Amino acid sequence: MAGLYALTYDDGPGPSTEALLDVLEAAGARATFFLLGRNLCEAPWADGDVARARALVVRMLRAGHRVGNHTMTHRFPIEAGELVAEITAMDGALADVAREAGVALDGVPFRLPYGVRLEAGAMDPRLAVAAGQGRAHVHWSADFEDWTLAAGDGARLGGEMIAHVRACAAVGRDAVLDLHDSGTGGRWGYARPATVEATALLLAEARVAGWRWFLAPRAGG
Ligand SMILES: [Zn+2]
Repeated sequence: MAGLYALTYDDGPGPSTEALLDVLEAAGARATFFLLGRNLCEAPWADGDVARARALVVRMLRAGHRVGNHTMTHRFPIEAGELVAEITAMDGALADVAREAGVALDGVPFRLPYGVRLEAGAMDPRLAVAAGQGRAHVHWSADFEDWTLAAGDGARLGGEMIAHVRACAAVGRDAVLDLHDSGTGGRWGYARPATVEATALLLAEARVAGWRWFLAPRAGG
């Protein structure tokens, strides 16, 4: 059965983004990057080298990857008005880089920091705020907590990703993999070498198995 998979990367750009773009390019695959405003506009992961951060996103756009909005600061919890302001500011930042890239944005998907959270069974109030901005949340079928992994964990992560796409294909489901090519500057920093290695392993398996990538959300791709 044909497997369809979407690779989605949150929190970028970061120090692993370039290697990831190389891996994707070598395989002829495209992905969706839910970019974080702070890592694009302030680039703390690159000692404030904003030109380097922008160049990564320009490359991303010109290669046909899709960029998404993951807010400016990754703050949680957040007031409704602040979330609206962050979504709007991030849209502006993405539009600005797209102009530099000479690429027209074909819709900008949205993903909440930390995803949809259920607190005591109540729906995440941020969903209603996003919906009020005309934004649906792009969820995932599997999150591998790759931000907790060390450089030597790539093979294990790759195996888990492959198993997930295979399991989805077996029941005719699209796989939407949630991964991270950067971070928020907290305990685990920004670099994601295991994620880059695991992506290469998945892409190699996809070639053998005949799985095909898609950009999330599928309706836009
Ligand atoms: Zn995130």
